[in-house]
Amino acid sequence: MTVHDELFARSRAVSPGGVHSPVRAFGHVGGSPVYFARGAGATLTGVDGRDVIDFCMSFGPLVLGHADADVTAAAHAAIDDGWSFGACEPYSLALAEWIVSRVPWAERIRFVSSGTEATMSALRVARAATGRLRILKFDGCYHGHADALLVQAGSGLAGASAASSAGVGDAAHSTLVAPLDDVDALEAVFAAHGSSIAAVLLEPLPANYGLLPQRRAWHDAITRLCSSSGALLIFDEVISGFRVGPGGMAERLEIRPDLVCFGKVIGGGFPVGAYAGRRDLMGLVAPEGPVYQAGTLSANPVGMRAGLAALTSMERQDGWRELADRTQTFAGRLREALAPLTHTLAVVDEPGLFWIHRGAGEPLRTPGGIPADNAAWFRAFFHAALDRGVYFPPSPYEVSFLSLAHTESVLDRALDAIRGAATEADRL
Ligand SMILES: *Cc1c(COP(=O)(O)O)cnc(C)c1O
Repeated sequence: MTVHDELFARSRAVSPGGVHSPVRAFGHVGGSPVYFARGAGATLTGVDGRDVIDFCMSFGPLVLGHADADVTAAAHAAIDDGWSFGACEPYSLALAEWIVSRVPWAERIRFVSSGTEATMSALRVARAATGRLRILKFDGCYHGHADALLVQAGSGLAGASAASSAGVGDAAHSTLVAPLDDVDALEAVFAAHGSSIAAVLLEPLPANYGLLPQRRAWHDAITRLCSSSGALLIFDEVISGFRVGPGGMAERLEIRPDLVCFGKVIGGGFPVGAYAGRRDLMGLVAPEGPVYQAGTLSANPVGMRAGLAALTSMERQDGWRELADRTQTFAGRLREALAPLTHTLAVVDEPGLFWIHRGAGEPLRTPGGIPADNAAWFRAFFHAALDRGVYFPPSPYEVSFLSLAHTESVLDRALDAIRGAATEADRL
């Protein structure tokens, strides 16, 4: 019995599945989860003292790597000053001004403590603003675990036979679901329900069921149908925001959403989320307007100061361009390294994130396109990589993240390990 097995057995006795978020339990890959004690740069260190190169990066927040020096200093300083006031402070103002001055469609912003709270609150605003009830989301997109959004979701629900959660009652009855990459289906949904749709909520870069970049025409159809029907457009940029670039996917697509949700990167690895958008819509939020939304630990100073430190560090060192370049180069090298295998592997990449899956041919745009043998392949690949010192997110449906701490020498070592792991898993 390893130290990990032992800790997992104890964890299962006191917590459901032994974890506090489902994917961590290694259900998709089998075996006991690795227990980590420390993170530094691109490295995680297990409780047994073993180092691995990390491509999970806390599922996205750590654009600068683990324990980045600037973020560490900001968090230490915040703790020295007392870590929660439940009152007005200048730190959330500084982060709000920084974001609002750089993201034109974020005219005003409200901080919350998670991505889940951000999407949940944005929906409330959209329903209040339009007086409509229905929400349209897409099959395979994940928006956190608010009841109304646990329908055909991705992330920890990806690959589940029942694609939604028990216990949500009729909270999801007003949630419409359309397939990704299907303009006809979109038009049909709007023809049937357009006048009752409060908002379309989407991951502008779907990244919770593998990485499924969408076509321009699909984005354009959504924008057009929203504006002709009066539905609001909500971009869930919890993963893509401040990762694919300072303006997220909205900037890359040149689409101006009515509301935008942030999380992950904006807290520098601390529990911070936010929703933002049009001045008039954000004016509906209490105490200015009738939409109630509050939080005891909202805008927690540690998260605010750490988040601002992370974002300013990225800006100062042209970090988004560097991260994008590094990802593109690494993905190209991966494709080359994996080309000789018997079973073809595809490497999908966008700035700061990538996804390796079995199969080739047309780029995947829907969850249904993922080959049936991918899950079994990933199980073997994941463990073979871990044996060689590389830690991927423990699910075939979770994307991998790069940070600025993934330097060339780290990526060289990772490449060798991945080549070896893929060769071993190729026998499957
Ligand atoms: C992670 C994620 C969320 C949920 O954020 P939490 O902080 O885990 O609540 C919402 N939307 C997207 C796109 C995400 O990737």
